[in-house]
Amino acid sequence: MPITNTELLARSLNAVWHPCTQMKQHESLPLVPIARGKGCWLHDFDGRRYLDAVSSWWVNLFGHCNPRINAALIDQLGRLEHVMLAGFTHSPVIELSERLSALTGGALGHCFYASDGASATEIALKMSHHFWRNSGRPQKDRFVSLAGSYHGETIGALGVTDVAIFRDAYQALLHAGQIVPSPDARRALPGQSAADVALDAASALEQHLERHADVTAALIVEPLVQCASGMVMYDPEYLRLARALCDRYDVHLIADEIAVGCGRTGSFFAHQQAGIRPDFLCLSKGISGGYLPLSITLTTDAVYRAFYDDSVRRGFLHSHSYTGNALACRAALATLDIFEQDDVIARNRARAGLLAGLCAPLAADPRIVHLRQRGMIVAFDVLTDDPGFARALFAAGLERELLLRPIGNTVYFMPPYVISDQECALLVTRTREALDVVLR
Ligand SMILES: *Cc1c(COP(=O)(O)O)cnc(C)c1O
Repeated sequence: MPITNTELLARSLNAVWHPCTQMKQHESLPLVPIARGKGCWLHDFDGRRYLDAVSSWWVNLFGHCNPRINAALIDQLGRLEHVMLAGFTHSPVIELSERLSALTGGALGHCFYASDGASATEIALKMSHHFWRNSGRPQKDRFVSLAGSYHGETIGALGVTDVAIFRDAYQALLHAGQIVPSPDARRALPGQSAADVALDAASALEQHLERHADVTAALIVEPLVQCASGMVMYDPEYLRLARALCDRYDVHLIADEIAVGCGRTGSFFAHQQAGIRPDFLCLSKGISGGYLPLSITLTTDAVYRAFYDDSVRRGFLHSHSYTGNALACRAALATLDIFEQDDVIARNRARAGLLAGLCAPLAADPRIVHLRQRGMIVAFDVLTDDPGFARALFAAGLERELLLRPIGNTVYFMPPYVISDQECALLVTRTREALDVVLR
């Protein structure tokens, strides 16, 4: 008997507690069991397919079952799957560290490894505070983040995350950071530009640092796009102003590029579009091509040197069992190879231009506001007060072979970079059809 969707669905609901889900909602909205993937498409057990318009939670860059990444992993499996990274090292982790450092122009020459994005955030927070401690300023133990920021959901990372639905239930457990206004370009008043909004937000940051810099270790930001709170886009000027303020007030700047890194916004790292350098850079999601859990926190010589000492306790003693996993590093190397061999940043520019053209007519739709784009992210907000809108559009998308996952009223496309012209056209056309049905 071949496996069917229905059978797997029932077994999954029995045994698997799914993430970011009120499980009871699956009484009305079925799970989608996936049998295999190829390129931008996911295939279920009953012969249906879905265009992965959200890159499987923003991780997949070059399609499912990519032949080049598969081949690299098969080769690595025959050599070394994993070895502990304390006291040992291996080629994939060395090569990956060297290549990532080179991509920062050598500014961030030291790579610390973990397995998921939230851990990369926590490592940056811990390193920043420990740096100040080692530098004789232990009172610098607070963090600043932007309104609507998302930096992960472990208890430390939630402290700098400002998304109520993820945070409210755990408020009592958190070491809460300080929140300053977001430079969200949608907040521009008539006659104001996105850069004006950035200027206002930066002056609020300045007021905060004027008073609290002596107890502040770092500012953490998602450069250019605050993804999880609804693809909030802002002007690069904010990053330049924030960098200058962090320098002036002796506060670290942490760039959380877990979602916006790896070419997503049009440059390999999003912060490069502002011409600045952060003190810490967090990477995860796309860095392994969407294959294996891997995260990296990169930092500067200055930070590294503050830990380099005869005393063990001045060292950074953080660890995870799978730190620097060889298979995950090899997947990342294969991903970087594709960036180089296919000139992906340049090709994405053309792809983003095509998407812009296809989406432009949406701006004239009276139900749609704030159509916006940064590289390979397109988003718009839908005027509706239906609290069930996101779920309804998700379901209507599935019926039209689309995997869409709106955030509240924000619909977005964040497809794998290998999406074809025809697939882009299909995505936009069918999204409109789904919207027509949901908003009827
Ligand atoms: C997804 C995400 C994280 C958390 O990564 P996980 O691997 O889900 O823990 C942190 N920051 C940003 C900006 C993210 O998008």
